[in-house]
Amino acid sequence: MKLAELPWIAVRDALVYRKPVTALLPCGATEAHGPHLPLNTDVIISEGVARRAAALLEAGGIRALILPPLAYAPAEYAAEFAGTLSIGAATAKAVILDIARALKAQGFACIGIANSHFDPANVAMLREAADEIGAMGLPVAFPDFTRRAMAATLTAEFISGACHAGQFETSLVLADEPSLVNDAARTLLADNPASLTEAFAQGAKTFAEAGGPQAYFGAPAAATAAEGEASFAIMAEALAVSVRHTLGRGI
Ligand SMILES: [Zn+2]
Repeated sequence: MKLAELPWIAVRDALVYRKPVTALLPCGATEAHGPHLPLNTDVIISEGVARRAAALLEAGGIRALILPPLAYAPAEYAAEFAGTLSIGAATAKAVILDIARALKAQGFACIGIANSHFDPANVAMLREAADEIGAMGLPVAFPDFTRRAMAATLTAEFISGACHAGQFETSLVLADEPSLVNDAARTLLADNPASLTEAFAQGAKTFAEAGGPQAYFGAPAAATAAEGEASFAIMAEALAVSVRHTLGRGI
């Protein structure tokens, strides 16, 4: 259930009568994702993860409200592509910390972070934010899929690091917002096996420097909605498990 679609009294009643209530924050970006995916790809993916995780949590007796997504984030690797709107890490972190402060003041039991924007500056910012939210006394669940063990639960393309607007992300958007995928464009795209994560490690500062002049890596032509559903299930389960763990409800 989306918090912003409820009247305030429904949220009040949930907080009073149905503790614990967790808030799920979808973290995305407004960022170029190849010639075939929309700029809000990461918003779509993070909202899809949050929605599925909320259903899992609700089924297990934990109230889960999905917050309006964050659609702006550090995205300097894609800044040269039209439509990408990159903001500073300090700005993004300040917004998240203020949201967490407000949640804590209202009596939310936990914040769960659903992130699918794996720009290194964004991930570093989220790790810092998670630490600082914990320090302010609000339990935080943040399954970080850039950690090796977490990444290993996802697809071969994701693990290879050729994971921006390729088979992995295109499959996820096909699962939830197929009308926003330009199928004519994506089926003509040649595979681009350049590893973004290796390029990051070697100091590349833009997608073009990393070998992605069209802002995609991987194999968009191979994407399927079924693969997207499978990836969504894995990411949603990880978020639900992390929230339950954070709330001391075991796994
Ligand atoms: Zn993305």
